[in-house]
Amino acid sequence: MGYVDEVLDLVSKRDASQPEFIQAVTEVLNSLRPVVEKNEELYRKNAILERITEPDRQIMFRVPWVDDNGQVQVNRGFRVQFNNAIGPYKGGLRLHPSVNLGIIKFLGFEQIFKNSLTTLPIGGGKGGSDFDPKGKSDREIMAFCQSFMTELAKYIGADIDVPAGDIGTGAREIGFMFGQYKRIKNLYEGVLTGKGLTYGGSLARTQATGYGLLYLTEELIKCHSDNIAGKTVAVSGSGNVAIYAIEKAQQLGAKVVTCSDSTGWIYDESGIDVELLKEVKEVKRARLTEYAAAKPSAQYFEKKNGEHGVWQYKVDVALPCATQNELDIEDAKALVANGVKYVCEGANMPTTIDATEYFQANGVCFVGGKAANAGGVATSALEMSQNSERLSWTFEEVDSKLKKIMVGIYHNIDEAAKEYGMEGNYVAGANIAGFKKVVEAMLAQGVC
Ligand code: NDP
Repeated sequence: MGYVDEVLDLVSKRDASQPEFIQAVTEVLNSLRPVVEKNEELYRKNAILERITEPDRQIMFRVPWVDDNGQVQVNRGFRVQFNNAIGPYKGGLRLHPSVNLGIIKFLGFEQIFKNSLTTLPIGGGKGGSDFDPKGKSDREIMAFCQSFMTELAKYIGADIDVPAGDIGTGAREIGFMFGQYKRIKNLYEGVLTGKGLTYGGSLARTQATGYGLLYLTEELIKCHSDNIAGKTVAVSGSGNVAIYAIEKAQQLGAKVVTCSDSTGWIYDESGIDVELLKEVKEVKRARLTEYAAAKPSAQYFEKKNGEHGVWQYKVDVALPCATQNELDIEDAKALVANGVKYVCEGANMPTTIDATEYFQANGVCFVGGKAANAGGVATSALEMSQNSERLSWTFEEVDSKLKKIMVGIYHNIDEAAKEYGMEGNYVAGANIAGFKKVVEAMLAQGVC
């Protein structure tokens, strides 16, 4: 059995109850085969694959808080510090009832390679809780965030581990957590990113993941002698990534015709009205039915059997921006049958492995989330730089650095794929480029 298969076997047995983690490790290690085969003796001797698939540490803790009825509630908190070979752990905090250790591990594992691709000095980590922010009052959110940070504060710091937002953790939650950290540690430092602008946040961080996704998509299309202007685009989700992906796509001259949330989706032939979407989702925190009620050209469809309705339309570009495994093989077949040419992931692992392979086998240019959504964490690292020098850069400064990073990522993954004879396989290119830098640092630092 080859080294990759041995480690896949080990992980599948050891972490059998963590399907998302096994899925992520399988996808990454399979695409690294050419690199591993070339360096098998060195990697095997240094147990590189065993070490990179086992987190430095996994912290799980109780989060007790009091709801508005005076009832004590208990959630489970997580922080997985996966790998800090190239910099302090960095990765978001997900607040969603589906969160468990396997999901946090899959996200933390992917984060190692994504952070490496940004070219900035950040390691991989991820955290969160099974707490559901939906329907909670501001006071309940604050009570949860303060309790969560009371424990998390023991393990993080500006040079140790710098968490950020993710699903369910936006500016409000980051604010409450930052306040609690400062209070416990009596220390004003850039321990979290995604902060408000009045207390150390970076301009353009809110837009960064969605904008970055479009900068990379634009470059990908350009390098295929094509133009994003005039393209029809399907987007899923209507959260932070989706909203700013829609906004930038439209600024670049494309027409976005779909968006979705966990209960339904919108098809708007005249193009999504992003200001209305922001009003519904960011201000009112309401359902998409309110969008449809305010926009006569929009059709709203309720999800009945967990279907992913946004992928059934005729589009040139598909940008999954909601959550993991939201684009499966049936969706991929529908998109290919409708002539899709480019698929770039705004979310983390939204496309199942068989759907990814289907796109690749059918000539679709497919860029995975590790590369395509790295703009968020890259801008978080720029927020860390600004905090360290106690300065704030202008929106244009941050945005232009973001664009340069995303264009650079595209060329880096393209070249890595070509170097190993896999031209056009951007998934492999991203894994290889991200992996090689981390491994070089791990080898230089000895057994640790
Ligand atoms: P948000 O919480 O802002 O939005 C998530 C969106 O996805 C919402 O529209 C939500 O709908 C929808 N959604 C969540 N779960 C499901 C589900 N099971 N089925 C269908 N729709 C669902 O999160 P973000 O936009 O920040 O994150 C989206 C994705 O992008 C995640 O995979 C995240 O890890 C990834 N990402 C985010 C970055 C960032 O900077 N924010 C950076 C890099 C990656 P509803 O409102 O109904 O819950």
